[in-house]
Amino acid sequence: MSQTTAPRTTTTGVRTTASAQQTNPASVAQTIELIASKNAKGSNCGTTLAEPTWNFDRVPGYGPGASIGDTIPLSAPRQGTLPAEYREASEEELHERIQQAKATLGEKLVILGHFYQRDEVVQHADYVGDSFQLAKAALNHPNAEAIVFCGVHFMAETADMLSQPDQSVVLPNLAAGCSMADMANIDQVEDAWEQLMEIYGEEPDAEGKAPLIPVTYMNSSAAIKAFCGRNGGIVCTSSNATTVLKWAFERGQRVIFFPDQHLGRNTAKAMGISLDEMPLWRPQLPLGGNTEETLEDAKVLLWNGFCSVHKRFTVKQIDQAREQFPDVRVIVHPECSMEVVDAADEAGSTDYIRKAVEAAPAGSTIAIGTEINLVQRLAAEYPQHNIFCLDDVVCPCSTMYRIHPGYLAWVLEGLVDGEVRNQISVDASVSEPARVALERMLAATPAPGVKAATFGVQAAADASGSGSAAGADADPASASTAREVVTEQARS
Ligand code: SF4
Repeated sequence: MSQTTAPRTTTTGVRTTASAQQTNPASVAQTIELIASKNAKGSNCGTTLAEPTWNFDRVPGYGPGASIGDTIPLSAPRQGTLPAEYREASEEELHERIQQAKATLGEKLVILGHFYQRDEVVQHADYVGDSFQLAKAALNHPNAEAIVFCGVHFMAETADMLSQPDQSVVLPNLAAGCSMADMANIDQVEDAWEQLMEIYGEEPDAEGKAPLIPVTYMNSSAAIKAFCGRNGGIVCTSSNATTVLKWAFERGQRVIFFPDQHLGRNTAKAMGISLDEMPLWRPQLPLGGNTEETLEDAKVLLWNGFCSVHKRFTVKQIDQAREQFPDVRVIVHPECSMEVVDAADEAGSTDYIRKAVEAAPAGSTIAIGTEINLVQRLAAEYPQHNIFCLDDVVCPCSTMYRIHPGYLAWVLEGLVDGEVRNQISVDASVSEPARVALERMLAATPAPGVKAATFGVQAAADASGSGSAAGADADPASASTAREVVTEQARS
């Protein structure tokens, strides 16, 4: 793999200008390559990480990386073979072909890159952000004919639901799923609901509160979002989980939280709900592995899902960081375990982390507990700080890692030829109730002064703008990234 670098995209959602470009140190993919070839010290979590993605695309599993050990559902989409001309092209050639296709497509195209995406792909993105910021960026391009989403499957589904009917949303590699989202499938969720309704009944209490409100993290399939929409529930992001849980408790006696137990637990705990009132629901077991009494007393039922990337962070790593750097500031994502969140100085969404780094005084030492691509990019973007990942093993999100520049070139050249490859399309029977759950989130989390162009709802709302400390919805830079995305888009 070449060590040359190309113009970079900042983590603020806009392309850098030529004068603002920095020398890009080794990307995560390049670092892995160097470690694998013994040209750099360090370790990574899989020997196959240095191989091209098409070597493992047809093998069952999520690919090498943090989710490698998770069980991939049989129903997960598989990616067909990438034509040889893309598999065999050099990085320079792919870069040229991508640039050429982008230039040809012009305004007809918008490319979105997730914070956790590899640099070799992100450098071509028009916007970089978390899943909901990117969905909103898509929303702000109603005239683009194609939205190429360099993220994972549920993100492309959300973008499709928020985009215009005549727009196509494309996922460059269909095998780029999300192991956490796949831990809750709609059959399991409907089965759980049926069991719970038998215990709780369907009638509201004397205060008019429903027995149970379903809440799903954005990192879930469109089918689960639709389930929430149909059953009085709502979607949340890691930025607004506290606000959304408050919304749910105004309407219900209890909440069932899909699919990330850690975000659910960290948020509910910060709201004062005791661990005894948060039983885990294991979908393979009758009553989720609980007794009726436990479920009667529950306030938040936590679905047994997790992110394998954030599961890697430990209290021991935090202790070691503090031992090595006594003044270190430890910031972790709320998808980390409760023990890790409790031991850290702060916890917040990817956007919170980015803004905390941005606002930190020069010379800060910051240990971050989130996906390595974002941490490494922040370290390159803010050289005035000492920024490092809590986990010293280089281990990217395996599903995001499946998108390689070869796939990006393939889908873009297809669009140039008038062929939409890898389109993600959510059926109206699913997207309509899912949008209801998304609209409830937007209405529940307004940000004054931000006029959100929502999908069919005239609401002054911004769902994901504020980064949040877990349970506090606090924002270190007191600025809305979604607003920035909108503003930057207006400037560009
Ligand atoms: S980092 Fe975790 S939650 Fe995010 S896409 Fe990867 S597996 Fe899914």
